[in-house]
Amino acid sequence: MNSIRIAWLYPDLMSTYGDRGNVIVLQQRCVWRGIHVQVTPVTLETPVRELEQCNLIFMGGAQDRQQKLAGEDFLKRKGPVVKKMIEHGTPALFVCAAYQFVGAYYKPYQGEPIPGAGIWDLYTVHPGDQAKRCIGNTVAEIITPAELSGTIIVGFENHGGRTHLGPKMQPLAKVIKGYGNNGEDGYEGATYKNTIGCYFHGPLLPKNPKIADWLISKVVGTLAPLDDSLEHSANNILR
Ligand code: GLN
Repeated sequence: MNSIRIAWLYPDLMSTYGDRGNVIVLQQRCVWRGIHVQVTPVTLETPVRELEQCNLIFMGGAQDRQQKLAGEDFLKRKGPVVKKMIEHGTPALFVCAAYQFVGAYYKPYQGEPIPGAGIWDLYTVHPGDQAKRCIGNTVAEIITPAELSGTIIVGFENHGGRTHLGPKMQPLAKVIKGYGNNGEDGYEGATYKNTIGCYFHGPLLPKNPKIADWLISKVVGTLAPLDDSLEHSANNILR
């Protein structure tokens, strides 16, 4: 296949800290290689059949209020479709609130838990309004997927929720600097099949292009290399 259709879930509600940059990177790295690429914004109003026609999924972070709004739709309409696509091998990237969404639930510090799609074996709890938010620049070393193992990734995190992985999950990375999933176990993010979830904004992909290519390669196969010297310099500065 030489064509990618990216589903960008809830671009109007879920795109904090430059998360849209991840979509731009995916798109541009395809364009540079002559891969036909199309981005489909999937909002609350978009029918699920448009999502089903996509072969790569991205969803970004959100504040709790926006997360709640998108959460209702995700649980009832888009989530079950995303689950089916993921099980069939569709690559996806979920950042922060989106990462919390694919788990069992996110319990905000006020109000009822927001149920997730239960695609991944994890849950997230905000420990209360007195709890310190996990904010700052981050560095981590990838553990899974195996093809990216040892890659140093950099980013920026800002979350109140603490995520705990169940026994079926593999962590994405080992934290070198920052809080990661919960500030306690030293792990950041998670992976499942061809999907990655993490707390890294920044946005993630411009300074960590190997992850972008890993996602693209799951659709089109082996990729021609690009000159990533600028991207590597940006990554090095933040380490
Ligand atoms: N609302 C979530 C939290 O604070 C997610 C924040 C985000 O996506 N940046 O844990």
